[in-house]
Amino acid sequence: MDPLAWLHEELEALKAAGLYTTIRTIESPQDAWLVVDGRRVLNFCSNNYLGLANHPKLIQAATEAMGRYGVGPAAVRTIAGTTALHVELDRRLAAFKGVEAAITFQSGFNANAGTIPALVGRGDVIFSDQLNHASIIDGCRLSRATIVPYPHLDVEALEELIREHGPRHRRKLIVTDGVFSMDGDIAPLDKLAEVARRHGCILMVDDAHGEGVLGRGGRGIVDHFGLHGIVDIEVGTLSKAFGVVGGVVAGRRHLVEWLRQRGRPFLFSSAMTIPDVAACLAALDILESSTELVDRLWENARYFKAKMEALGFDTGQSQTPITPVMLGDARLTQTFSRRLFEEGVFATAIAYPTVPQGTARIRVMPSAAHTKEDLDFGVEVFAQVGRELGIIAAG
Ligand SMILES: *Cc1c(COP(=O)(O)O)cnc(C)c1O
Repeated sequence: MDPLAWLHEELEALKAAGLYTTIRTIESPQDAWLVVDGRRVLNFCSNNYLGLANHPKLIQAATEAMGRYGVGPAAVRTIAGTTALHVELDRRLAAFKGVEAAITFQSGFNANAGTIPALVGRGDVIFSDQLNHASIIDGCRLSRATIVPYPHLDVEALEELIREHGPRHRRKLIVTDGVFSMDGDIAPLDKLAEVARRHGCILMVDDAHGEGVLGRGGRGIVDHFGLHGIVDIEVGTLSKAFGVVGGVVAGRRHLVEWLRQRGRPFLFSSAMTIPDVAACLAALDILESSTELVDRLWENARYFKAKMEALGFDTGQSQTPITPVMLGDARLTQTFSRRLFEEGVFATAIAYPTVPQGTARIRVMPSAAHTKEDLDFGVEVFAQVGRELGIIAAG
């Protein structure tokens, strides 16, 4: 008997509920258009906000660095995996974010999962926005602190919960996504900072979707709100707007020093690879030299959203380039996504457990790499499929 036989039933149940994820294969570099499963399609779902994933300067930097240092780090950072390039990236990221120090991890996921348990544990309490990213949720669980979820963006409810649970615990941590990845709304970081100060809480924000998008020249959510020195921990990813892969934690010198001693993925998982680090340094060069890409991203996002709303699509509460097209039903959303693909637009269906039950959607990610013509084509296909499936009125 196969002790894993039950997996067949579970997988069939996922398929019947429209919750089975079909993973498509990309056969070209990340760009405005992709070759996916043999078809050329408009790319509406990657996190490559600024088009850096296939930028010639990043490719050149990665290639040159490999000529000098090879490919693999061959060790964790604390043993023999810290090259001069890693030191340079940590330093440059700190300067970019306007903080005392920064530390890189292999991914944003690892940054969250490593940072939270290094700061709180048994006897402590974490107040966590109920729509926080899975990596925050896992970091909270790993910490063994008491986890108190608070209603999405609700600062008053949060303060009430702090009054109730705070006194019974030692350290208190408030943690939130900066930009919520599935809805594109922004955490009220200024108000959260006031609450944190009033109650002596540590404040941590995960700015995965704000990095390279929000703030001056893409410096992120802390810069967007002008809260330098007030937010204790700013987590970011190098896997989205930066176009590479990696995670970063930015803040005070003693925070970073502590994470170098106690951030488990930093100590027990090998360092970022050489080409990744070199490409991130090149991405920083581009971000620091001009706001052109960030400006174009926002211009494209506004253009696309206005056209979709004019057609009658519900694009939710987004305040950022992330554009959810809300459909509700998971199976309908899968059908919608499949029809888009057949018509040349690649935009994946997002359903439970990535978003709450009954709130399935197609999430469109406009980027700086798109031209107006690309966006017009995408809008046209959305209109056609939307009418066909009765989502918007016949035009
Ligand atoms: C994507 C994302 C992460 C994970 O980042 P990776 O670098 O891909 O591991 C973490 N937090 C949030 C909010 C994200 O959207």
